[in-house]
Amino acid sequence: MAPRYQLFCPVIKIHVSIPLLDRANTKYTVSFVAPSNKDTIAKLRFSEAARGQTVTLHGYLGHSRTPSKKLTFVEFFGPELDEQIQLVSIVEVSGQHVHESLRHKKALTPAVIKGQIKVKSAPTVTERDKQQVPNEIELLEIHVLNEFSNDVDNSHSLGPDQRHLQLKSSSQLRQALQFRSQIYNAACTELTAQAYQHIETPLLFRSTSEGAREFLVPTRQRGLAYALPQSPQQYKQLLMASGIPRYFQMARCFRDEDMRADRQPEFTQLDLERAFASGRDVMADVERLVRRIIQKIPAPYGGTTLQIPEDSAFDTLTYHQAMSKYGIDKPDLRLEYSIKRIDHLLPVDLISKISPLHQPAVDISMFSAPESMESNPSRMREFISTFLDAPDATTYNSNPHGGPGVFIYDSRSPLSGLQAFGFEAAEEVERLFEPRDGDLLLIQARPNEEFTGGSTALGRLMIDLNKSALDQNLKTLSKELKFLWVVDFPLFTPVSTGEESQRKFTELQSTHHPFTSPKTAEDVDLLITNPRAAIADHYDLVVNGVEVGGGSRRIHNAAVQRFIMEQVLKLPVGKVEEFAHLLEALGTGCPPHAGFALGFDRFIAVLLGEYSVRSVMAFPKWGKGDDPLVKAPAQVSDEDWKIYKLSPMS
Ligand code: ASP
Repeated sequence: MAPRYQLFCPVIKIHVSIPLLDRANTKYTVSFVAPSNKDTIAKLRFSEAARGQTVTLHGYLGHSRTPSKKLTFVEFFGPELDEQIQLVSIVEVSGQHVHESLRHKKALTPAVIKGQIKVKSAPTVTERDKQQVPNEIELLEIHVLNEFSNDVDNSHSLGPDQRHLQLKSSSQLRQALQFRSQIYNAACTELTAQAYQHIETPLLFRSTSEGAREFLVPTRQRGLAYALPQSPQQYKQLLMASGIPRYFQMARCFRDEDMRADRQPEFTQLDLERAFASGRDVMADVERLVRRIIQKIPAPYGGTTLQIPEDSAFDTLTYHQAMSKYGIDKPDLRLEYSIKRIDHLLPVDLISKISPLHQPAVDISMFSAPESMESNPSRMREFISTFLDAPDATTYNSNPHGGPGVFIYDSRSPLSGLQAFGFEAAEEVERLFEPRDGDLLLIQARPNEEFTGGSTALGRLMIDLNKSALDQNLKTLSKELKFLWVVDFPLFTPVSTGEESQRKFTELQSTHHPFTSPKTAEDVDLLITNPRAAIADHYDLVVNGVEVGGGSRRIHNAAVQRFIMEQVLKLPVGKVEEFAHLLEALGTGCPPHAGFALGFDRFIAVLLGEYSVRSVMAFPKWGKGDDPLVKAPAQVSDEDWKIYKLSPMS
C-alpha cells in the first residue's frame, strides 16, 4: 500500500487521508512553463530553419525504445495528438535524472519537454530517398505533468467504460469531433447570414403527447414533473406566435425509445423555424444551408466525396413515388434498382402460389448480377439461396402476405427462366429491366391498398440484398452524397388493430407530428370528408438512404389545430388540454410558419460515411441507454426519492 499522510482536523475529529504527494512535481504542474514555440510538431519536424533551436514543448509521451543503457528514443505527440517527433535521450546530454524519468512512462503521459532540434541522425532509406530527413529533439529536460495510472491498461481494445481513453487513442474519433465542430460553426454562420436568430429554449418542459416517450424530471412538489423536450417543436412555434421572424438552435432532444445504431436517447438537432413561410421556402433555406456547409468543409475527412453539384436542385420524390419505385420512403439513390407493379400481367395461378391474399398488388424488381456472377446463373442461385436460408431472412420467408418469388434469368432455359410468368409478362419484364444471364428477378405480393409506413417487403429485400453483396465485397457503392427530398406524405397514418388477417384501421395517428399542416385547400376539405386521403406539407431530407431531417408547414390556426386533435386524432379531452399553451398562442394572431430539424449526429455520421452515430458523439449512450463511463443512470438514495415524494418501489 502506498504511504499516506494523516491530516487531523483539530476542531471536529475527522481525519482525512490523502496519497503521498510528490510536492516538488505538484508545485511544478500548477505553474508549468509555457511552450517556447507556436509551430506545430509537424512543422518542427521538417523545418530546416528550426535546426539548432532549443525549444520547450507541451505534449504527450508515446512509445519508447532503449537500445542501450545510455540511449532512449521516445515518441512525442503535440497536444492535438496527431503529429509526433522523436525525442532522443542521451545520458551524457540530458543527465541521469532526465534519462531515468523516461523509464516506465506509459504512452499518453502528458509532459513538458525541453530540448534541441537536430536533424535525425540515422534516417531511414525511404526518408533519404525522398530527401525529407526529419528532425528529432535531443532531450535536455522533461517534466511529467501527470502520471498515467499503472492500474489502467491502455494497450488493449478499450470499452465504452473508458470512453476518455477511446477518444485519446483514436485519431479517427477525435477527427470526427473536430469535423463536427467545424460543421456546427459553418451551420451557425450560414443561418445567421440567412437572418435566423439563435434562441435557446428550455430543457425543463412539460409532458405532452407529441409522439415519442418522454423522460420525466420529478420535482419536489408532489405529483408534478417536468418532461425533457423530445424536440423544441412547441417552443419554436410559440416563438413564431411571439413575433420572432426566424429562429434556429442547436437543440438537445430527448426520447425514451429503444436504441439503434442511428438512434440515441439524447441527441442534437439543428432546429429552425420561419414565420410567414411555406414548406417550399424552408426547403430552399435548408438546401442553401446544406450546400454552404458542404462547400466550407475541408477536403474529405472520411469516406465520402463531399460535393453536391452547384447547378442542380436536390432531387424530389413524393412519398407515393418513393414507395412505389423503391419500396422505401428514404431511398438510397446510389442503389441501382427500381420496382414496378406487375400483377395485371401475371397469371392468376402464379399469384396464388406466392400469396394467400385475394387480388393482391404484386411488385417486381431486379437485382443485377455483380460482376463476378455475370453470365453465371448458378452462382446467383447460390447467392440467393444462402441469403434466404440465413436466419435474418425469416422476416421475408414468413411474411403473412407471402414470401418472395425468385427467378434467375438464364437464356438457356425456356422463356429464359421466366416461364411461370407466361409469355406476355415475361416479354414485359424483358422490356422493363433488360435482364442479362445471372440477373435475379424477385416478385412480392402486398395488400392492394394505399401505401402506409416506411417500407414494403420488396423494398426491404432489395436493400438487404444489396447490403449483403456489399458486405461480401461483391459490389461497391459510390461515395458521393445523393441528397433527396421526399414530400407529400399522407397527413395521417392508420393505426392497425387486431390480427393481421382481420386488420381494422379505425384510428388515425399523425404521420409526423400533430402540428403538421394539410398541403392544399383540397386537403383542408379532406380533413372533414376523408382525412386518410389528406396530404401533408411535410418534407424529409434523405442522404444516401438515411433520413437526416424533416420538417413541415405548421397549422397556425387554433381552430384547425383543435379540430385535428379532437375530431381526427380523437385525443381525449385531457390530452388536448396538454396543448392549451399552444392553442392559446395560435389564437393570438400567430402568423403562418414552417420549419425543419436536421438530425445533427446523423448528418455528421453520413458525411463521414460512418454507420453509427456513436462514432461522431463524444459521450454516446450504449446498451439500454446507459453511459458506462459515468455509470448513468445510477441508483439514488431513499432520501433523494423522498425529496421528490417518490419511492423506488412505487
Ligand atoms: N420537431 C420535428 C422533429 O423533431 C422537426 C420539425 O418538424 O421541425 O421531428
